[in-house]
Amino acid sequence: MLKDREKGVVLQRDKKTYAIVPHVPLGLLTVDFLQKLLEVAKKYEVKAIKITSANRIALIGFKEEELDEVWEDLGVVPGAAKGLCVRSVKVCPGITFCRLGQQDSLNLGAELDKRYHGKDLPTKFKIGVSGCVNDCAETCIKDLGFIGKPKGWTVTVGGCGGARPLLARVLARNLSTEEALKIAEKVINFYEENGKKGLRLGRFIEKFGWEEFCKKILE
Ligand code: SF4
Repeated sequence: MLKDREKGVVLQRDKKTYAIVPHVPLGLLTVDFLQKLLEVAKKYEVKAIKITSANRIALIGFKEEELDEVWEDLGVVPGAAKGLCVRSVKVCPGITFCRLGQQDSLNLGAELDKRYHGKDLPTKFKIGVSGCVNDCAETCIKDLGFIGKPKGWTVTVGGCGGARPLLARVLARNLSTEEALKIAEKVINFYEENGKKGLRLGRFIEKFGWEEFCKKILE
């Protein structure tokens, strides 16, 4: 069986065919990329085209021997859809497009995506960036989240979905984009050095102690 993460593919329920999941930074698509996706979808007669929860597009139904050629045809890198790493940076349109935006979520999200997408960590790790308190990027269930408010970014940590969901907690408020990026670096580095395999950040913080964790990151 293929190593799914390296190939940027996901084995399907039939245990024979694969979905491919290209990296779509910020969930922003170009006309050219959509054109290519359609050409590939037609050429290989895919079974389905699915929008994923991480704002990616999955093409479903490739044979193993087709995969290398498919990536060549698309000319883009795979998304980190599997494995113990930063899987996704989910970002709302923020002040660039949304009338309710308070902060530039696309700008912060682009920087986070550039720095951390696919980075190896003790377990899967999701980031969200919302331009206002409506939280369309669902930072409340992300390991690391940023919410835009009039005075700057609120940073949250420790959220996750899944079988044992956790709501994120507020770590810091009123940060500039530069300060928010510094906090992100501290959280990710600390988790990388001290986290345990399979323990999501929120569970890790529960064991480590909330006060202690805040002190380590904010000191
Ligand atoms: S979180 Fe706020 S800024 Fe972002 S899309 Fe939703 S309403 Fe708009």
